[in-house]
Amino acid sequence: MVSEEMRKLGATGNPMRVLFEYGKKRAAVIGAENVIDLALGNPSVPPPPQVNETIRQILSGELSDAVHAYTSAPGDLALRGKIAASLSRRFHTDARAEDMFLTCGAAPALCACFKGLGCPGDKFIVIAPYFTEYKIFIHGADCEIIEVPAAKDTFHLDIDAIEAALTPEVKGVVINSPNNPCGVVYPQENIDALGEMLRRKSAEFGNPIYLISDEPYREVVYDGITPPWVPHSYANTVVCYSYAKSISLPGERVGYVYVPQSMEDHDTVFQAIAGAARAVGHINAPALFQYVAAACDGLTSDLTAYTTNRNLLYNSLTAMGFTCVKPMGTFYMMVKSPEPDAAEFSRKAKEELDLLFPDTSSFSCPGYVRIAFCVPVERVQKAIPRFQRLAEMYGLQPKAAE
Ligand code: PLP
Repeated sequence: MVSEEMRKLGATGNPMRVLFEYGKKRAAVIGAENVIDLALGNPSVPPPPQVNETIRQILSGELSDAVHAYTSAPGDLALRGKIAASLSRRFHTDARAEDMFLTCGAAPALCACFKGLGCPGDKFIVIAPYFTEYKIFIHGADCEIIEVPAAKDTFHLDIDAIEAALTPEVKGVVINSPNNPCGVVYPQENIDALGEMLRRKSAEFGNPIYLISDEPYREVVYDGITPPWVPHSYANTVVCYSYAKSISLPGERVGYVYVPQSMEDHDTVFQAIAGAARAVGHINAPALFQYVAAACDGLTSDLTAYTTNRNLLYNSLTAMGFTCVKPMGTFYMMVKSPEPDAAEFSRKAKEELDLLFPDTSSFSCPGYVRIAFCVPVERVQKAIPRFQRLAEMYGLQPKAAE
């Protein structure tokens, strides 16, 4: 007998992947050019040239001759030192090699944090809408999830609502800014207010409440904004990061957990995270991409195409009469469903127009759909008339574009 819970997980993909697979099958029937797939967060722009240059240097032996060997479990110390130095430079902080645990991306980083920080039965607060997999990761750590909705309309952190959900059983709060799926970047004062409240509640409960800041989209931002560096606002923060989105390396699987020196009982927390990673089979992050991360930390892929797509979609859809959350980061945009059942809206777009985007019920935020615009600009240009058709089908009132 296998675990029925795990079998079910394995048998069902998340809705984005289900649509993506559908899109591939449909493309085989009607031609790839006729399917407008806006479902998956797979970066469409190439990595910065330094990525390939670093790989070339490594493979030609210029950087190291031990590149395919095992490394220390948290990653090669010198490479971790380079990443830490980059963080210190960029965020005016005091990161050290010993604070970095390199992982196979943000997902395993998060899993290590939930399992390492949480004891069975502990709770973690997440802010809805949230990345679908948090629930699975938290349950995988034998912990419970508490969903707290983001503030209405702005989708910022609702500090009072988070405070109301806090009990001594809550081990941590998970935030994700820039946010998947709503594209919102929390402003400095919002993060500061969260830090202030968590300090107060930690003192009241006599235990630290950990803040887990999931930041795979940190550099994918628009209009020149810079997301706040969360540990400056709250000492007991762990940062989970991935090079998947910022430098377009989702399939290479490299990221980290950063445990700042300011963390209470720093070494114990670091060891717990390292132990949790070990318990789920972590050996080390891919050695080749540890070098790439060390050489390329802080670089960003050329975001011109995303910026064009974001402006085109936001301006066109709002002009058609759709209500959209303006993305300030990531490559996702949430659009309010013009009918109460957003799944039905998504189904109609798929079946009548071959336009693929999921509804956001799996992000615990019903009533919206998520458009992933990390696609070639031509695909977004082709999508616009199909959105126009949807706007007409639903009788939306056109508005002047912003
Ligand atoms: N966190 C968020 C908010 C994400 O959107 C994703 C991936 O899409 C992840 C974590 C997982 O990132 P990775 O591919 O590095 O595991």
